[in-house]
Amino acid sequence: MTRVLITSALPYINGIKHLGNLAGSMLPADVFARFRRARGDEVLYICATDEHGTPAELAAAEAGQDVRAYCDEQHQLQHDIGRSFGLSFDWFGRSSNPPNHRLTQHFAEVLESKGLIEERTDKLIYSIDDRRFLPDRYVEGICPHCSFPKARGDQCDNCGNLLDPVDLIEPYSKISGSRNIEVRDTNHLYLRQTLMAERIRAWVDAQSPNWQPLARSIAYKHLDEGLIDRGITRDLEWGIPVTKDGLPRPGFESKVFYVWFDAPIEYIGATVEWAEGTGGDWERWWRTDKGAADVEYLQFMGKDNVAFHTVSFPATILGSEEPWKTVDRLKAFNWLNWYGGKFSTSEKRGVFMDAALELLPPDLWRWYLTANAPEGSDTAFTWEQFQSAVNKDLADVLGNFVNRIAKFAESKFNGVVPEGGEPGPLEAKLFADLDAGIADLTANLEAIEIRKSAQALRALWVLGNEYLQEAAPWTAIKTDRERAAVIVRTALNLAALYGRLSAPFIPFAAEKIGEAFGEAWPAPWPREGAAAELARIAAGRAIRAPEVLFKKIEDDQIADWAERFRGEG
Ligand SMILES: [Zn+2]
Repeated sequence: MTRVLITSALPYINGIKHLGNLAGSMLPADVFARFRRARGDEVLYICATDEHGTPAELAAAEAGQDVRAYCDEQHQLQHDIGRSFGLSFDWFGRSSNPPNHRLTQHFAEVLESKGLIEERTDKLIYSIDDRRFLPDRYVEGICPHCSFPKARGDQCDNCGNLLDPVDLIEPYSKISGSRNIEVRDTNHLYLRQTLMAERIRAWVDAQSPNWQPLARSIAYKHLDEGLIDRGITRDLEWGIPVTKDGLPRPGFESKVFYVWFDAPIEYIGATVEWAEGTGGDWERWWRTDKGAADVEYLQFMGKDNVAFHTVSFPATILGSEEPWKTVDRLKAFNWLNWYGGKFSTSEKRGVFMDAALELLPPDLWRWYLTANAPEGSDTAFTWEQFQSAVNKDLADVLGNFVNRIAKFAESKFNGVVPEGGEPGPLEAKLFADLDAGIADLTANLEAIEIRKSAQALRALWVLGNEYLQEAAPWTAIKTDRERAAVIVRTALNLAALYGRLSAPFIPFAAEKIGEAFGEAWPAPWPREGAAAELARIAAGRAIRAPEVLFKKIEDDQIADWAERFRGEG
């Protein structure tokens, strides 16, 4: 039994996530976690909300809420909606919780003791009326490139140019609208990544052969461009306070750690939360001197997050010179796009997780998003593709097979797995095809090839319909009841096997299948050959046809949804 630690990139707190967020980190992490649990590994899947930073403050202000109350509410919403989607995290923590405060302050103090953090003086915008320094996004003004009147301090939304707030013409505070602002000196902490460049490259060289090509290429791109020293504190109220020797750091009383410094540390923080909440031992997952050396650690993320996981977080971990576990396998995803544009949380463009579940059950979305995972390149959501995946794969192939054979057994064998007869040549061919197909599916899941895994699973489902078509139990029953018994017994076992093989992808339907065929749930991943696996449910067991597993999506439904969730462009 291997211990497998899985983390997926932390969803940001500013609202329910869209299907693109789900497809590019949390869902594939969940599929993999479920697969490894079914194989008998000890899995710890950790996720958490990322709660600090300017956008959280802005979203709270827009909602008219105190930032802590806003985060409390949004965290609970994201937790509940994730569970409704079947995301099987062992813990869904919060980067604002005490363990992350302690760990973040610990790392900063250790890094400073190693000479890797220094205090520097920056020139920043200070709002005299607001009596505070303004983060980039809190300053607006006229764009120096295109004269757009409401350019943000970090970027102009009209022309797309990245900006420095001091470049803005006639700048004003977004908080109060005051133009009574000036440039002032203020001190911030800098993580001296330039001193770490050699160590990080050596670490990437050693680790990256196990990473996906996309993650590896992005990591080397950042290393080749050269690391820069990064400011890791900000002038904000909401965040982790900056300390020195365990006390508030002089001159930093109104500053907090930058969200990008503390967010990845929450992978550890959330594991501490899990330990405190369950009585588990977090150190055996994270401290290589306390048992974590043989943990297999996998991270799942979108491509925009790779640099933070391959350079910034390793700088924190390696710089501490403490025995922390680092990532073994890193899986990055491209974008799932929305009709040629991007899904956008801030612009509320696309289908969001809560709206998706109001339309249809989670398995339908899970299947589409895994079968069309944005792995090799960006992919685009379309309602037609979604309808096709649900109707053709789930309803016509898997659902049809399971219901057809279960109903047949109900009507011809009183819902009892029939005895008698011996497997013949058709069964021998089925066993061989299944053995090859299961090996293919298992290998692709092990390699985290999500799209290929879904294809392999679908190919396995197709085998069932082909077998029934050829074996034709409805004909056999008229002349040879023993032969019909073999076919029905084999096909019922096959339907139950599909429940087990499909569970990582469509856990709700899989469990319904398991229940209908009297399987203890969750059921293990097949270990024996198909001949033995298809003898698992013995003659005499009572089964029943499950309720309709997948309802087909009608043309007028997708026309309606396309209108409601109008795509851009
Ligand atoms: Zn502009």
